[in-house]
Amino acid sequence: MIRKLFNKIFKPKLAKTEHAKPERDQAETSKPRHSNRPLLSTKKSAKSNNSDKANAIIIPYKKHQIDRSLLSSAAHKTIEGLQKAGFEAFIVGGAVRDLLLKRIPKDFDIATDATPEEVNRVFRRSRIIGRRFRLVHVLFGDETIEVSTFRGHHESQGDAHTNESGRIIRDNIFGSLEEDATRRDFTANALYYNPTSQEVLDFHQGFVDIQAGVLRMIGKPETRYAEDPVRMLRVVRLSAKLGLKIDAETMAPIAKMADLLQDVPPSRLFDEMLKLFLSGHAIESVSALREQHLHHGLLPMLDVVLEQPMGERFVMLALQNTDDRIASGKSANPSFLFATLLWHEVLAAWETYKAEAPPIPALHMAMSEVIATQAEKLAIHNRYTATMKEIWGMQPRFEQRAGKRPFGLLTHPRYRAGYDFLLLRCESGELPAELGEWWTNFANAEGETRAAMLQADTAPKKRRKRNRKKTGATTEA
Ligand code: ATP
Ligand code: MG
Repeated sequence: MIRKLFNKIFKPKLAKTEHAKPERDQAETSKPRHSNRPLLSTKKSAKSNNSDKANAIIIPYKKHQIDRSLLSSAAHKTIEGLQKAGFEAFIVGGAVRDLLLKRIPKDFDIATDATPEEVNRVFRRSRIIGRRFRLVHVLFGDETIEVSTFRGHHESQGDAHTNESGRIIRDNIFGSLEEDATRRDFTANALYYNPTSQEVLDFHQGFVDIQAGVLRMIGKPETRYAEDPVRMLRVVRLSAKLGLKIDAETMAPIAKMADLLQDVPPSRLFDEMLKLFLSGHAIESVSALREQHLHHGLLPMLDVVLEQPMGERFVMLALQNTDDRIASGKSANPSFLFATLLWHEVLAAWETYKAEAPPIPALHMAMSEVIATQAEKLAIHNRYTATMKEIWGMQPRFEQRAGKRPFGLLTHPRYRAGYDFLLLRCESGELPAELGEWWTNFANAEGETRAAMLQADTAPKKRRKRNRKKTGATTEA
């Protein structure tokens, strides 16, 4: 009943024409027409037909100038395989957008009218994945191409489910090419490139928006955010990453809808957060999120950390460091990043536990507590938390600069990550700069110079356990 009422209010047909302002229409590059099916076509899917494209603007090569040699060979082979089997296949989403923005796409996603089972039959090395959306991963060497079947309107048939706030929780309806375009988030993400004909199909004036540098939601922004609150994070992330301006109507509802993020399953938030922090534009993204008050929903304690001057400095330095690494083509380790994001939480908890336990056990209690609280909200995988704990657990060892201990630390398998973490702590003002410098010099020094750097060992000598003779047996005998 409530859902019906909600659908009535919030789900009128997605108003495709809503944003089709006259001046944007003038930029139409050629009259819509039917694209050619490949000559080798042997099979025609029941779901799609050429009338699908009647409402699309067809942008010819002359206008878009996408260099198809920039597609990976796996992307070419997947398109070719599907088209030869008689299906439609297009490069979609971020890759088309990035190519039009003269950026190198980070991966190539493909949309088709073939069902997941049909795609799976075309490619020997492929597998069907996913529950919320069923997709096919097609494997070529170490490259994986994600192939999705055109999706339909969720209100048109019975296999989509929304919760009370309108969020879609299950959704596997296949549809036409045009419906698939309407289901996508932003106009810039709803372009379909056929490398064979070299045409781009555009149902929502995405081409004009890209040229104008605008990120615009397809349909009514309120409804689209209610269906999937993660779109609020996506709009902020993509605008920071691509330098696109968020359209005013797309931006307007975010402030009042930000709380809906609390309702998003942790695993989705985690994936989106990884994308956000590892995009190479983490600083801009986080600043934009704070402006929109979206960081509250993203990382439950991030807002607390960002509000303490020391915590903020540390997190911002860590993000800058990550952005710099990505800009110079290096990889960024998610465990290191999460270790930095949560460090000031660990520090605060550590202080509390020190009242009831010696420093090292207290640190371990603090680490477990922070992981437990965050893991619940964020689904940080165990493979990351184990490394985070190693990085944190190593930190007190950097303060021991006497005897054999520093040599032991240098051989730790995660020494490099622990050391980088230490440098950030020094740079943020949490520790004296001299400590970081000492470790840099110590690691680079050799033999005697290194030995001369060690501080006097004032720590109480560990008493060696003597092997007491077991005398019991003899006395009793
Ligand atoms: P990136 O370059 O960061 O990967 P992207 O736009 O390609 O950005 P993906 O998560 O790879 O992002 O998604 C691929 C495409 O799927 C998008 O371009 C968009 O068309 C569609 N899409 C992704 N997430 C959503 C969503 N939450 N709602 C609607 N459409 C979405
Ligand atoms: Mg992508």
